[in-house]
Amino acid sequence: MTATSTCITDLTSAQIQELIAGLGEPNYRARQLQHWTYQGLALSFDEMTDLPKTFRNRLAQKVQLHSLTSTHEVVGHDGTIKTLFTLSDGKTIESTLMSYPTAKGGTRHTICLSTQVGCPIGCPFCATGQQGFERNLTPGEIIDQVLYFSRRLRDQKDETDTDWDKPAAHISNVVFMGMGEPLANYDAVLQAVEMLNSPQGFGLGARNMLISTAGLIPQIKRLSQEKLQIGLAISLHASDDARRNELVPINKKYPVGQLIAACREYCEISGRRISFEYALFEGINDSVNHARSLAKLLAGLNCHVNLIPSNLTDSQGFSPPTRGTTLAFQRELVRLGIACTLRQRRGLDIDAGCGQLRSRLAKTMQT
Ligand code: SAH
Ligand code: SF4
Repeated sequence: MTATSTCITDLTSAQIQELIAGLGEPNYRARQLQHWTYQGLALSFDEMTDLPKTFRNRLAQKVQLHSLTSTHEVVGHDGTIKTLFTLSDGKTIESTLMSYPTAKGGTRHTICLSTQVGCPIGCPFCATGQQGFERNLTPGEIIDQVLYFSRRLRDQKDETDTDWDKPAAHISNVVFMGMGEPLANYDAVLQAVEMLNSPQGFGLGARNMLISTAGLIPQIKRLSQEKLQIGLAISLHASDDARRNELVPINKKYPVGQLIAACREYCEISGRRISFEYALFEGINDSVNHARSLAKLLAGLNCHVNLIPSNLTDSQGFSPPTRGTTLAFQRELVRLGIACTLRQRRGLDIDAGCGQLRSRLAKTMQT
């Protein structure tokens, strides 16, 4: 397989129809093929038993069924699964499956997806940012992370569940918060969103997907025109340019004031609430005064702030604040009328922070 080999999941519905027409097959075969890919979660063309064998063979010569191989996996104490995937060109990415109990006694399964190998933004506190940028993922490589975990949940039920009538667990949410900057790979990410959302594809509600961005203003404006119901989160981390230039270097190009103006516009056009991610780093952006200036910046915006204590505990100058400082920050935001939650820390024992497993494995392999 080469880096350019096409995967079924790289194709839009129209492109799948073209492929089928090119092979001289009737149109309904396109629907069957998509159904086997996105609902049947087929791993081989042989599983597609209602397609003629000769046709399956010809398909197999034209396209691949999947683009990722899981090459390493760790499971945390809280059940979080982090998987390292090797791509067809040998590069690696990671994704995480987090499972949360719901109020109704069920379980919500959220996947955190990667969109690039490495990241061009280079935030100093981020393991991915420190790895540099290698390449964009294709739509298929993005989608296949979802199909992989979906297949895992199905197979887990087959292996452990004796209740035949209970449906297998399914993916409830997809967040684009893994390695890479989703809006720097805009077209592939949007194609993946459309296919994950489409009833002919994976069929996940757009409201159950969330894109997190370091703040690429032109792409935020473009996204507001797409008329999608997908959620948008901005990784803010600081409310003044001097501090944000250091923490999120793209701020030098797209400063805070302009970013927030673009966010206000996004809220007006989309009618949706926006989320702000605010990672707390001890002594850098965690004081009550920082909370006040954040509240002032966001005043009047239909938004929600997610506070994330840094997940770096081992030096590099980006340690998490104490619990007391964290709670004081949160209290001040709430007092000033900003809706805000403290992010549950999950999967810490398995390097669940973005890019951390890949970094650790790379270091292990060097030694
Ligand atoms: N590039 C996108 C999405 C991937 S990063 C973005 O930056 O939004 C997902 C989130 O993890 C971002 O909010 C990012 O700032 C945060 N993050 C990365 N490293 C972190 C760390 N060491 N501690 C806390 N949050 C971190
Ligand atoms: Fe890239 Fe996001 Fe990491 Fe910054 S935090 S380097 S934008 S992945």
